[in-house]
Amino acid sequence: MDVIVAGDRAGLVKARHSLGIGPSGATLALVPTMGALHEGHRSLIRSAREQADHVAVSIFVNPLQFGPNEDFSRYPRTFDVDLEICADEGVSIVFAPSADDMYAKDRQVSVSAGQMGTIVEGAFRPGHFDGVLTVVLKLFNLVQPDIAVFGRKDAQQLAMIRRMVADLDVPVSVVGAPTVREADGLALSSRNRYLSPHERHTALALSRALFAGARGRTPAEILGQARAVLDAEPGVALDYLVLVDPATFTEAENGYQGEAVLAVAARVGATRLIDNVAITL
Ligand code: AMP
Repeated sequence: MDVIVAGDRAGLVKARHSLGIGPSGATLALVPTMGALHEGHRSLIRSAREQADHVAVSIFVNPLQFGPNEDFSRYPRTFDVDLEICADEGVSIVFAPSADDMYAKDRQVSVSAGQMGTIVEGAFRPGHFDGVLTVVLKLFNLVQPDIAVFGRKDAQQLAMIRRMVADLDVPVSVVGAPTVREADGLALSSRNRYLSPHERHTALALSRALFAGARGRTPAEILGQARAVLDAEPGVALDYLVLVDPATFTEAENGYQGEAVLAVAARVGATRLIDNVAITL
């Protein structure tokens, strides 16, 4: 079956109708993306397909979640290839609205990520999670999926979306999917295409550090072992390396027990990369 491309709200309503999606009809899973699709997005789509009758992929580079000095204007846009990937993966609907269609000129109301949106990644990207939650809630309202699949690669984003769904009683089940990596450990990211071959090699220190940290037994050991790898790579400008509770993103201190996330953000040349691994303490 061909992919239905919906460029605006009306197209989306028509697509849902023609596929029989609705309360007593077929189920729908949404995979929100900013396009420049890669193997990580493909694995989210496959997971979504296993859990619903139809999959919708949204492709929208959301201006609200980029800071003034970030890469909004140069973010990769590869719509034709993205469509081929979606067709190849059996996606039923691609929702690709314009910024004007998403945001009224006189819009006033948005979602606040609260205090949790100001820590860790949020401390380096003020307003980022407000922008993410605002667009995700709008996408949920427009697409009306039964479930939505997000990558654990963006662990704080996933935690914030779960928080929003709980706090605002949003009727969507949120599913987390594992991070897809290159054979050498580099987490796939649309931003990897900014890296020169030399920078790409330098960037491997991020996953190497996380894997080294994961071999530690206590928070101090985990952070120390990961830190040592990053310190040995002068091309990596570290923003943060933290061990946190995956639900709240507050620090897992010595004595912490249970699931934790070791998360890193760093700049390699002009490219900012994030990565994380789950660790059970
Ligand atoms: P993006 O297009 O970068 O906004 O990402 C769209 C979705 O894909 C988000 O839920 C990301 O967490 C997820 N994603 C990005 N990279 C990966 C990866 N390497 N493995 C799994 N999911 C990913």
